[in-house]
Amino acid sequence: MMAPNPVIKGPALSIVVPMYNEAQVLENFFAVVVPILDGSAQDYEVICVNDGSQDETLPKLRRICHANPRIKAINLTRNFGKEIALTAGIDFARGEAVIPIDADLQDPPELIPLMVEKWREGYDMVTTVREDRQSDSLAKRLSADLFYRLVGKMSGTPIPPHSGDYRLMDRKVVEALKRMPERTRFMKGLFGWLGFKQIEVPYERRLRSAGRSKWKFWDLWNLGLEGIFSFSTLPLRIWTYIGAACAVFAIAYLLFILVRTLLYGADVPGYPSLISVVLFFSGLNMMGLGILGEYLGRVFIEVKQRPLYLIDDLIGFEDGPADGDRKPTVRNERGDR
Ligand code: UDP
Ligand code: MG
Repeated sequence: MMAPNPVIKGPALSIVVPMYNEAQVLENFFAVVVPILDGSAQDYEVICVNDGSQDETLPKLRRICHANPRIKAINLTRNFGKEIALTAGIDFARGEAVIPIDADLQDPPELIPLMVEKWREGYDMVTTVREDRQSDSLAKRLSADLFYRLVGKMSGTPIPPHSGDYRLMDRKVVEALKRMPERTRFMKGLFGWLGFKQIEVPYERRLRSAGRSKWKFWDLWNLGLEGIFSFSTLPLRIWTYIGAACAVFAIAYLLFILVRTLLYGADVPGYPSLISVVLFFSGLNMMGLGILGEYLGRVFIEVKQRPLYLIDDLIGFEDGPADGDRKPTVRNERGDR
């Protein structure tokens, strides 16, 4: 249940940065972002989410938060994945506008003043769209292309192609996003589902400033499946049609055999065709079951109602977190540092 009118006493702008093993880029990130934010001359906060990094990210973050009161950090208990880390950051953001951004400077921070300007013009969501993806591998580009087209078609939820999580959201949008309780968080789809007054800002995606991308082929594949299964029930419906087609084919074949038997008598041989038909249809059956299982598995995960993330400690939040309507966390506020 959404609080009818969330009292906003926070800053104008919140930047949310998920970080997983980003020790190599972290200092550089702040060196670039902080002057831009200072330059845009408004009150802001930067909320970093340490997503269970195994490297020096956390100690470095502690030092930075200590030095700059505008920078805060949420330390999750383990690696929850980017989408959930982002959700945690957004839950704690208090700004009237919230911008999630990657720590590796692939989302150019120079766009922030432009995004804020568009927001001031009255847009609720300013989405950045990649002009070209030269910095990504060919395979990644092709699969991304195919993916956006497929999901857009199947789900009926428009997902602007080549948009990432890098966007500005008005407080209205943030509150709406917080009302989506699902555990399987396919952010692009969630953003697409929201609606609101949107505008797109094109940009060129750069190479990572340092470190390595955490995405492997398998992760992208799984993200793709996530996009399809959590935004469309089309795969379930397809089986109705496949089943119907098979039934029609089976009836036709039955008639054919009937007529042939009447004309030429019964012929006993037929084991190979029989076994291939049996194998083919048991294969189809299993695929159908698998698809059902995908949805059932999702129902299972949602029904458990586990918290989305767990927080180990909060760094630099002097007056406690901004509380949304959802309370997914077991919060352990043993203070900072
Ligand atoms: N990230 C995270 N948790 C993860 C993986 C990634 O918080 O499990 C963060 C990462 O630190 C970075 C952002 O998500 O700030 C994007 O990650 P990455 O650059 O590896 O992805 P890519 O740019 O290749 O899509
Ligand atoms: Mg990156």
